[in-house]
Amino acid sequence: MTTPRESDLSALLEPGLYIVATPIGNLGDITLRAIDTLRRCAVIACEDTRVTGRLLAHLGIETRMQRYDDHASDAARARLLERAAQEPVALVSDAGTPLISDPGYRLVREARDSVVAVTSIPGACAAITGLTLSGLPNDRFLFAGFLPAKDKARRDALAELASVPATLVFYETGPRLVRSLEALAELWPDRDVAVARELTKLHEECRTGAAADLAAHYSERPAKGEIVLLVAPPWPAAPDEDPDALLREALGELPVSKAAARVSKATGLDRQTLYARAVAIKEELKRS
Ligand code: SAM
Repeated sequence: MTTPRESDLSALLEPGLYIVATPIGNLGDITLRAIDTLRRCAVIACEDTRVTGRLLAHLGIETRMQRYDDHASDAARARLLERAAQEPVALVSDAGTPLISDPGYRLVREARDSVVAVTSIPGACAAITGLTLSGLPNDRFLFAGFLPAKDKARRDALAELASVPATLVFYETGPRLVRSLEALAELWPDRDVAVARELTKLHEECRTGAAADLAAHYSERPAKGEIVLLVAPPWPAAPDEDPDALLREALGELPVSKAAARVSKATGLDRQTLYARAVAIKEELKRS
C-alpha cells in the first residue's frame, strides 16, 4: 500500500467518473476513500444538491455540486462525460450506492463505451444491510428493486419470481408495506419474510416471520421510514425432492457440509438452510 505525500492529499484525482457510496442513515457509514474522493473531485454530480450539501457540510468538503439524475437529457449526460474525460467527476445519490434503484446506469454505461475511466468506491447499500440483518439465507439472493404499486402488477411481478431458489430482496415504502405483505401471504404463506426498517438509524428494526403475521402487525402499527422487504427461498413441492430424505441419504456417506452441498446442488435449495437442517438430522440420528 502506498502512503500519499502530504501534497498529494489535496491534489485532484485523475480524470474519470467516480461512483461514490454514501450513508443510508448513520453519517458514520462512509469510507475514508469515499471522503477522500469527494474532496479531490472537481465536481460532484448528485440527485439533490440540498441532500448531498448536508453530507458535504458534515464532512467539511467544499467540492462543487451539479444536479444529475435519470431525467437528465442526452446532451446533459454527454457534457458530464466530456467533463469526466478531462477532470475527476464524482457521482453520488441521495443515499447508499448509486445505480442501485438510483440514477447512474446510463451514465456508467456510456462512460464505459467511451474513453472515460470508471471507478466504484463501495459502501453502504440498504439491500445488503437488510440481507445481512434478516437471518434469511444469503448464499443466493435476487435483488428486485421496488415492487409495482398496483395490486395486479405486484402479484404478477411476484408470480414471476415464485420459483427462484434464492432469497428475494425488495425495496418498499411504508404506505405500501401491508398490501405487499398481504400479497406475499396469499402467494407464499409458508415462506419466511423479513421487514428491515430504518437501517443504521435510531429506530432500526428487523422483524422476521410469516407474511400474514407481519401484515397483521403492520396494519396495527403502520411502518414509518425506509424499508427493505425480504422473502426466504421456496422449498420444493415435489415429494421426490424431500430435502430431509435426501440429506439422510447423503449423511450416510458424507460429512455435514458436503452432504448439504450435494443436496443443494441436486435441488437448487439454499445451502446454508440445508446445512442447518443436516446438523439437526445428524443430532437426531446420533440420539436414535
Ligand atoms: N441506492 C440506495 C441503496 O444503495 O440502498 C437505495 C435507493 S432507493 C431510491 C431508496 C430505497 O432504499 C428506500 O425506499 C428503501 O426501500 C431503501 N432504503 C434506503 N435506505 C434505507 C434504510 N436506512 N433502511 C431501510 N431501507 C432503506
